[in-house]
Amino acid sequence: MIADRRGGRLHDMAHPVDKGYIEGRPNVIVIGGGFGGVSCIRKLGRVDANIVLIDRQNHSLFQPLLYQVATGVLADSAIATPLRRIFDRRRDVTVLRGEVDRLDLDRRIVHVDDLEMPWDHLVVATGVENNYFGRDDWAEYAPGMKSLSQALKVRSRVLNAFEQAELARARGDHDEIPSWLTFVVIGAGATGVELSGAIKQLAVDRLASEFKNLDVARTRVVLVEGGDRVLASMSRKSSAAATRTLEAYGVEIRLGSMVTNITESGVQVGDEFIASRTPIWAAGVKATGLGAMITSGLGIDGGPGGRVPVNPDLTVGDRADIRVVGDLASSHNAKTDGPVPGVAQGAIQMGAYAGDAIARVLKGRPKRTKPFQYFDKGSLATIGRGKAVLDAGPVHLSGFIAWIVWAIVHITFLINFRSRISAMWSWAWAYVLQNGVNEIITGHDVETVGDGSITPATAGNASGTDHG
Ligand SMILES: Cc1cc2nc3c(=O)[nH]c(=O)nc-3n(C[C@H](O)[C@H](O)[C@H](O)COP(=O)(O)OP(=O)(O)OC[C@H]3O[C@@H](n4cnc5c(N)ncnc54)[C@H](O)[C@@H]3O)c2cc1C
Repeated sequence: MIADRRGGRLHDMAHPVDKGYIEGRPNVIVIGGGFGGVSCIRKLGRVDANIVLIDRQNHSLFQPLLYQVATGVLADSAIATPLRRIFDRRRDVTVLRGEVDRLDLDRRIVHVDDLEMPWDHLVVATGVENNYFGRDDWAEYAPGMKSLSQALKVRSRVLNAFEQAELARARGDHDEIPSWLTFVVIGAGATGVELSGAIKQLAVDRLASEFKNLDVARTRVVLVEGGDRVLASMSRKSSAAATRTLEAYGVEIRLGSMVTNITESGVQVGDEFIASRTPIWAAGVKATGLGAMITSGLGIDGGPGGRVPVNPDLTVGDRADIRVVGDLASSHNAKTDGPVPGVAQGAIQMGAYAGDAIARVLKGRPKRTKPFQYFDKGSLATIGRGKAVLDAGPVHLSGFIAWIVWAIVHITFLINFRSRISAMWSWAWAYVLQNGVNEIITGHDVETVGDGSITPATAGNASGTDHG
């Protein structure tokens, strides 16, 4: 039974809320409708169970293309699909929008708002969130990009920065222009690299011709990285190719550089203060809150970034009823003797493994004995217009061919036909015609105040989580 404690009454979820819920069947609860959660339910197939998918958002998000929403290349609807639509033909799947705030591990109950939901099988796929390494106050000035609303906030701030530079020029405040036209991207993993190239492309290829009096082509993009190379998770060859391409674009790369402070007027990098009104955080992630709830509840140590260490079959501790998949899981990759990377493929494969394992139990089939094994299909990152780098085993490609592979792979993995058509159309528009699809500043994301400085309307999204 799914119980609503409001007013002390218990309502049977089966009536009238959801005709798909049948009393007496086992409950499979999946928390998180990202790559891991969706793949789990798809693999579960049709089993004699009530499947409940809970997510605080109403959509599944294709995070690898968030930076294109943040730079106006893609519309948000191209990379986000309502969870209800994904499972509209599955009468056995109930979708609930809500934030899971507590897990009662002893009683096997998930708490969502005022609801209590008992589970027979629980799959936790809530992923990770931005990590400011103890400086959550920086989130106000340097938003991260883990959710759609964060990407829309970044888009508004980036576009607003050009508008503020134009206003400063019109006012004659020429000293203010450089800080508006300087973008600091912190973290040179795939997100930071892709975003830096895309901001340059936005400025040089698209906006420069639209701002008649302002020299937008002077836009500076500074990419700050604490390590000794960009794209550290890829091969040195791809890293070097990405560096060359970024530098050819004019992106300034600062390696071995630590950010020590971020304020509304700029970023302190070692001894250097970079005056910038638009820093963007792409420097790290940590487990979402349910991770700590599971590890502390089961008395096990958390993994790197608070991730949940999982057994080879993705269960946790001695609990055969709890599985953790995707970015939230800290799973060992026997092939590389390292961790399974926090990438979409890892989440999809873990979700499918967990779904299959639960289906076997529910169908009374023998338990799967083979442990989860991650299959690395390769890595890709794009840098600006028509350029990308690719690692696939011994193969390393860069340039236009890698970009074609990147485009095909991303089109293939977009969740539905409409998103694919929308993305292809937008890419043609952006890369061939050099036009943006959605260069709109949405009023609720940024406001400007009298002195031209920026006030985040939703300041202090400190944990990096998104509830909007
Ligand atoms: C900007 C960016 C770029 C990336 N680029 C690439 C790339 O190029 N290639 C690649 O392979 N990977 C990339 N990744 C990583 C990839 O997106 C992740 O590995 C993948 O999304 C992990 O899937 P997941 O299902 O574990 O979590 P997610 O996809 O993050 O899904 C987690 C879901 O859980 C929900 N949730 C969280 N907490 C709660 C809660 N308490 N209650 C209810 N719901 C909750 C969230 O709303 C979300 O829908 C990128 C990630 C980002 C952020």
